[in-house]
Amino acid sequence: MQGTMKAAFFEGNGVLEIRETEIPVLDREDEMLLKVEACSICGTDVHVLSVPPSYPMEPGNVLGHELVGQVVKIGPAVKKFKIGDRVVVNPNEYCGKCRYCQANLPNHCENIVPMGLGGEGGFAEYIKATEKMSYKIKKDLPTNLAVFAEPLACVVNGMQKVRPNPGESVLIIGAGPIGLIFLKLMKSCGVYPIIVSEPSAVRREFAKKMGADYVVDPMKENLEERVLEITSVGVDLAADVVGSQMSQAISCARRGGTVLLFGVNTSVHPAVSQSDIVQKELRVQGTWLANATFPKAVAILEAGKVELEPLITHVLPLEQLEQGVNYMRSGEGVEVIIDFSL
Ligand SMILES: [Zn+2]
Ligand SMILES: [Zn+2]
Repeated sequence: MQGTMKAAFFEGNGVLEIRETEIPVLDREDEMLLKVEACSICGTDVHVLSVPPSYPMEPGNVLGHELVGQVVKIGPAVKKFKIGDRVVVNPNEYCGKCRYCQANLPNHCENIVPMGLGGEGGFAEYIKATEKMSYKIKKDLPTNLAVFAEPLACVVNGMQKVRPNPGESVLIIGAGPIGLIFLKLMKSCGVYPIIVSEPSAVRREFAKKMGADYVVDPMKENLEERVLEITSVGVDLAADVVGSQMSQAISCARRGGTVLLFGVNTSVHPAVSQSDIVQKELRVQGTWLANATFPKAVAILEAGKVELEPLITHVLPLEQLEQGVNYMRSGEGVEVIIDFSL
């Protein structure tokens, strides 16, 4: 396929530019060309576009990594897919050969190539993806649901590390898409109570609708005091999905509890009370990207067991991507989807 397409380039210093560019040319035999159906805006995209950026990215690249697309061209070595198949893509291409890949930790691949964060991204009409990184989805899985595959796969990776049990108490700090996906999965595990801390009123309202037992505005209330009132000892699990709230998570976890760190914000370096971690015997667990969790994410979406559509606040054409990023930044948007059919 030749010709040009529209794509959203990161130009540095918070600047996003939508312009015509060449449709990618397949240069590996195991590659496929996808026509992008939709790509959702991730908190990471918002971090990249902050000034100064709170997630590093080289200017001149196309943003976007949470996409669903249709196969329109296949390389000669592609076996599993045919033209017309619909796929979701793990955007962090691993090599399969390095020490971490061989240790079953492809999310820590030494040669990782992150789509949309240093290469071609999903906020474009077409994108290349390799067979290895693509996962087939059913013909009738709604686009607006399929687009959750990547963030869901990352959340499942985090859930597998902490394995919350029924009746355990959880605090989720941050009610953006990731926090709310955690909330839905925790809920389906029988976790109780679930406390959500979030400064945006819109997002707190969403958290309530999605089943949070308590919501807290950390700007108006003392989170630690509220958590103690509710649980009397602190929560079994405190998850920071913001990337800068580790101290809050530590102070709200009970003795012997777990702190899960999901979000990334490279521009802040929160002071951490090491003695609290020692004296409370906390387990502090980071979780990074997806790791063999895409098949599970696709299965969850296709089974329709976890209701994620209510998270969608905005469905916009590519031209309004910047507006969408602003909705995310202000907390007015939760799941903001760029739909290429618009
Ligand atoms: Zn993401
Ligand atoms: Zn590797």
